[in-house]
Amino acid sequence: MSEAERADPYGVNRWGDGYVTQLDDGDLALVNPLAPDAAPISLPSIISNLEARGIQTPVLLRVASYLKHSIHHLNTCFAEAIESYKYEGVYRGVFPIKVNQQAQVIDRIAEYGAPYHFGLEAGSKPELVIALAQKLSPDALIVCNGVKDKEFIALAIRSRQLGFNTIIVLESISELNLVMEVSRELEQEPLLGVRIKLNHRVSGNWAESSGDRSTFGLTINQIVDVVDRLKKANLLHCLVLQHSHLGSQIPNVNDVRRAVTEACRVFTALSGEGVPLAYLDLGGGLGIDYTGQKSNAVNSTNYTMSEYCFNIVEAVGYAMAEAGLPHPTIVTESGRAVSAHSSFLVFSVLEATSYHNEDMPLPEADDHHLISDITAIKDYLAADRLQECFNDARYYRDELRTLFSLGNISIREMARAEKIYLHITSLIKKAADESDAIPDDMEEKFNQLVDIYHCNFSLFQSLPDVWAIDQLHPIVPLQRLNEKPTNQAILSDITCDSDGKIDRFVTGDGDSSSLPIHPLKEDENYYLGVFFVGAYQETLGDLHNLFGDTNVVTIDFDGVGGIKILNEVEGDSISDVLSYVEYDPRDCVDAFKKIVEQAVSDGKISVKERKSLIATYKGLMNGYTYFESSETL
Ligand SMILES: *Cc1c(COP(=O)(O)O)cnc(C)c1O
Repeated sequence: MSEAERADPYGVNRWGDGYVTQLDDGDLALVNPLAPDAAPISLPSIISNLEARGIQTPVLLRVASYLKHSIHHLNTCFAEAIESYKYEGVYRGVFPIKVNQQAQVIDRIAEYGAPYHFGLEAGSKPELVIALAQKLSPDALIVCNGVKDKEFIALAIRSRQLGFNTIIVLESISELNLVMEVSRELEQEPLLGVRIKLNHRVSGNWAESSGDRSTFGLTINQIVDVVDRLKKANLLHCLVLQHSHLGSQIPNVNDVRRAVTEACRVFTALSGEGVPLAYLDLGGGLGIDYTGQKSNAVNSTNYTMSEYCFNIVEAVGYAMAEAGLPHPTIVTESGRAVSAHSSFLVFSVLEATSYHNEDMPLPEADDHHLISDITAIKDYLAADRLQECFNDARYYRDELRTLFSLGNISIREMARAEKIYLHITSLIKKAADESDAIPDDMEEKFNQLVDIYHCNFSLFQSLPDVWAIDQLHPIVPLQRLNEKPTNQAILSDITCDSDGKIDRFVTGDGDSSSLPIHPLKEDENYYLGVFFVGAYQETLGDLHNLFGDTNVVTIDFDGVGGIKILNEVEGDSISDVLSYVEYDPRDCVDAFKKIVEQAVSDGKISVKERKSLIATYKGLMNGYTYFESSETL
C-alpha cells in the first residue's frame, strides 16, 4: 500500500473536489458547490433523516445544486474562453435527453439552463415530446438527431411556429428525401443540420463511434450530395448547422482538438460552397474524471472542463480566421459532464463473508502433522519470507483438503485447518500491507482472499455500466472514515447472478481490485455511497431478478446548514415489477388464494392461518423489491 493510499484510501480528496469531503468525526459530507464556504452536511445524518421519514435504502439521491452548478460551470467556462480569445460568436449548449430522461432532471436542466439559453438534444420521438414540453429560452436550440420518420420530422418542423428553434440533423440521404417531402406537404420550411463522419479516431471506451467505420454521419461525398439536392430544391438556406459526435468520455484533450480542427475544415469548405452554416455542433464527449487521476485513461480525463472549452474556442476561432469566415455559434451536446455529478446511490451492507481470521485455534494432541506444519508457519514469518510462507500455507491447506476428501481426516479437523489457514494468510497479508514491495504474483493471489461484502442493491438496475463496460465510479463508506479500514473486500449485490459484483474500485492512487473497508459492527447500519451516477445509469438499468427502480429523492441545501427534500419518487413495488413482466398482480393474488383455499379443504391449515397467509402475500406485493429491515410479523 502506498503513502497516498494510506492517507486517502478512497481518493476522496482527488475526485470529490467541490462535491464531497470528510468530516472530523469520520462522516462523509456533501459540499455545496454554489456556496463552497458553507459547512458540509453529513451524509449519514441525511440518510437517517430519510429513514426516519420511511424512505429506505437503496436510495438514489439527486442534489439539485450539483446540476445547477455544472450547467453554470460549463457556460461560464465557455464564456471565459470566448472573452479570452475575443471570439465573436456565442455558445449555445444542449443537453442530450438520452443521458438522463427523468423528469426531475430534465425539468431542472431546462430551468437552470434558461439564463444561458441552454437547449435540449432529442434522439427519438419520445425525447422530442419531452423537449417540446419545456419552457426554453427563445434563443435555445432543440437539436434532433437519430433516425427520424415522417411524424418525428413533421412535429420538428411545425414546432418552429411555436417559437422553438428545432433543428433536424440529417443522418442519411433518405432522411433528406423524407424531410423534403414533409416540408412540401406542410408548406413549411425546416431548419436543417447535417451530421458528418470524422476520420479522426479517439481513444477511450467509445472509440468505435469515431472514425471511418462509425455507424453515424455522412461521408464527404454524401454531404456534397446533400448540398446539391438542397440547392436544386431551393432549400440550401435551411442548412444552418453542422454536427459531429465522437463518442462519450473522451480521455484525451488532444483528440478533442484534432476532431474540432477536422470539423472546422469541413465547415469552412461547406461555407465556401455557399452553405449558410451558423452553428458548429461538436456533439458530446466532454468527460469527467471518475478516478481523479487527471490522466488519459478510460475513466479519467487529462483536462478540465475549462481546458476543454478553451481548446475548442481557440481551435474554431483560429480555423475561421484562417478561412476569413465569421465566427459561428458553438454548440456542444455535453450530457455526462452536466449530469453525472448530480446523483449518487446509497445502499447498506447486509453482511460480510470473511476470508480472514483473527484468532488462531489452539493445537490439539492428536492433530495431523500437516496441521502442525501449517501452524508452524507463523514461527518463521518475516518480511523477506512472505512468498515462501504463502506458498507453504497453500500447499499444506491443499494437502489437507485431499486428505479430507479421501476420508483420512474428520470434518472437525478440516474446519480447524481452514481456520488456521485463514489466520496464517491474514498474518501474511498484514505483513505485506506494511511492506511496499509485494511480488505481483502474490498480489494476485491475495485477491482471492479478500472478503465479500453483500450489499442491498442491484448492479443491473442501478449501475449497468459497471457491469457492461467496466465503468468505475468512486465508492466510499459514508461513515467511520477517521478509522483505518482494516479489511479488503469486493462487493456483491442482491441478485442471484454471479456477475452481480463489483471488483474494481477507485482508490487513493488509481484503482484497485478490492475496496478498503471496515469490519462490520453489530447494531450499526454500514452504508456505502456510489458517486457520479447521474449519467446513463438510470434508464439503462434492467429488471434482472425483478429488482426494480430504487427510491429516488431529490434534495438540496436549504441555505441554513441543512437539507430540504424537493421531491420523492417511491421505488417500484413488487406488484409494479410483476406488471412489467406481463403478470396481473390481481391474478397472482387470486391464484394464491385458490392454493390456500385448497390447503384449508385438505385440513393442512386453519381458516385463521388462511387469512394471515393471504395478508402476508398481499403485503409483500405492495412492498419494496429490495431487502427490507425486519419488521415484526
Ligand atoms: C450520447 C450522445 C451525446 C452525449 O455525449 P456525452 O459524452 O454524454 O456528453 C451527445 N450527442 C450525441 C449525438 C449522442 O449520441
